[in-house]
Amino acid sequence: MSIKNLESNSKIHKYVLNSSLRESEILQELREVTDKKFGTIMQIPPEQGQLMALLMKLMGARRSIEIGVFTGYSTLCVAQAMPDDSYTLACDVSEEWTDMAREYWKKAGVEKKIELKIAPALKTLEILLENGESESFDFVFIDADKENYDTYYEYALKLLRDGGLIAIDNVLMFGNVVEGYEVPESLKKHFTQQSIEAMKTLNKKIKKDSRVDISMLKMADGITLLRKK
Ligand code: CA
Repeated sequence: MSIKNLESNSKIHKYVLNSSLRESEILQELREVTDKKFGTIMQIPPEQGQLMALLMKLMGARRSIEIGVFTGYSTLCVAQAMPDDSYTLACDVSEEWTDMAREYWKKAGVEKKIELKIAPALKTLEILLENGESESFDFVFIDADKENYDTYYEYALKLLRDGGLIAIDNVLMFGNVVEGYEVPESLKKHFTQQSIEAMKTLNKKIKKDSRVDISMLKMADGITLLRKK
């Protein structure tokens, strides 16, 4: 399975997948095509997509924002889990990645529920706030350039309704955030020192942030779930 999991080789992890993963054919195809074309590092693993879909259903979510789309796997999981009249705003800067995303959203029949904005996400989020869309979203997924995570987080808090959910991806950075943890050589190069420091600072800030309830999961590359109070 994906090397994005810190424990991907463990028998326990394999058992978890064998016992619970229900990935659809179309999601599996998108994941495999993405792995082939762009490598596996930037894609969320399927069990994370399944968790996000479950959370959308639990919340009855209807409006979501994805910051960092890549080839659209997580967007597809979230959009499929929300009703037909739901809205997902998908933010990315790459036409190449999102061309693949659009192809698969169409294949899955969810393209009408997703608006793709190719622009720096900071700009897109600023425009949303200017347009009076604060406190109108149920869910924000933050999975883009780590140096801007803190700013995305602050925007997300403004855009979410009370009780809304933020999921922050890669909070463990393959173990890079942990002092003395031996990160495999093949994974070290994926994050700059600056981005690692940015993540450590944000993780510290969130621990003390009384505006949110928090749970940090060891799943995938670490996911922090935050409920806006
Ligand atoms: Ca990620």
